[in-house]
Amino acid sequence: MVKRGGKEVVTVEIFRETYEVMKSSAEKKRWSTKDYINFVLKDSIEREKFLQAYAPYLLKIGYEDNILFIRDSKIGKTAEIFLRDRILYCSVCDSKDCLHIHYALALPEMAKLYLKKPR
Ligand SMILES: [Zn+2]
Repeated sequence: MVKRGGKEVVTVEIFRETYEVMKSSAEKKRWSTKDYINFVLKDSIEREKFLQAYAPYLLKIGYEDNILFIRDSKIGKTAEIFLRDRILYCSVCDSKDCLHIHYALALPEMAKLYLKKPR
């Protein structure tokens, strides 16, 4: 068992391109790459926990053709979240401001949706 700073550690492989992005972000914050990666992973775990507590009946089931699919087991429907004139829209609620959109905003797919080049 290996320990660093009193905590047990394990070694994992990270894709080079991911590592380079993390290293660069860490350097901007004057953090070590290792500390930064651990911070980002911990953040991600916290976000998952939050989403589970915030809306336990919602679940991301897919992302395809710039549409995010969120299953709502409370109403038994799948919400399609997409951009319309740069504003998020929910197909189930016919709304720009609903729980499905709030949920979607915490998901990493939002970055893909917003950063995609307009056709
Ligand atoms: Zn909705």
